[in-house]
Amino acid sequence: CGIVGYVGSNLAYPILIDGLKKLEYRGYDSAGVALHTGESLEVYKKEGKVSALEESVYGKNIQATVGIGHTRWATHGEPSDRNAHPHYSRSGNLAMIHNGIIENYAQLKSELVQKGYTFKSDTDSEVLLNFIEDIKINNDCSLEEAVRVALKRVVGAYVILLLDKDLPDTIIAARKGSPLVIGIGDRAHYLGSDASPMLAYTKEVVYINDYELAIVRPDELILKNLGNERITPFVQKLDMELAAIE
Ligand code: GLU
Repeated sequence: CGIVGYVGSNLAYPILIDGLKKLEYRGYDSAGVALHTGESLEVYKKEGKVSALEESVYGKNIQATVGIGHTRWATHGEPSDRNAHPHYSRSGNLAMIHNGIIENYAQLKSELVQKGYTFKSDTDSEVLLNFIEDIKINNDCSLEEAVRVALKRVVGAYVILLLDKDLPDTIIAARKGSPLVIGIGDRAHYLGSDASPMLAYTKEVVYINDYELAIVRPDELILKNLGNERITPFVQKLDMELAAIE
């Protein structure tokens, strides 16, 4: 399973599909992408190979320069189009991908169900997404703040990438126990489970640590801990041997 992301000025969809193919070796049962067109969030997802996703999207003209992509290895809910990521939040204003397991999802889900939430998938991931949105609405705070508050209650392993309809140039990312690498491009950033999706574009990468949250825009990478303190990104240059695999 794997995640990819892109924020920049080029078309995101081909970069995401190419990146997902580079992560296919990790194994998966479904694939999907979410794109921010500047006005709206669009989600395309499909059980099966990345090529099946491509076929289902074929002919659509996806004009977006910001997006996230996912390959799923099902842990909660059978492999299906419905359970594939990305998931929309209840309002439709957020889209999220997740690799990992939310161990206390049943508790979070029952709290949300009591508040009247219903779910379109059987995943632990959709529960976390709506838990984040519920905090965002109740606290009337930014997505970044809602993610921080939510993750303090989460037990489990995750890497998550989020898009917000109101933030057309931003990906919010966080991890604990699942890998996340951010590549620094020319007024662009690339996100991946490992560096392979970004090797064609950049050799400068930042390995994100557990309990760190990244706010990623074309010309800005802000790293914070869950206490909302800024962390200076440690930029590493990938060596040429690794680059040669590409
Ligand atoms: N637990 C999530 C699901 O079952 C994510 C699985 C993954 O790591 O791809 O949908």
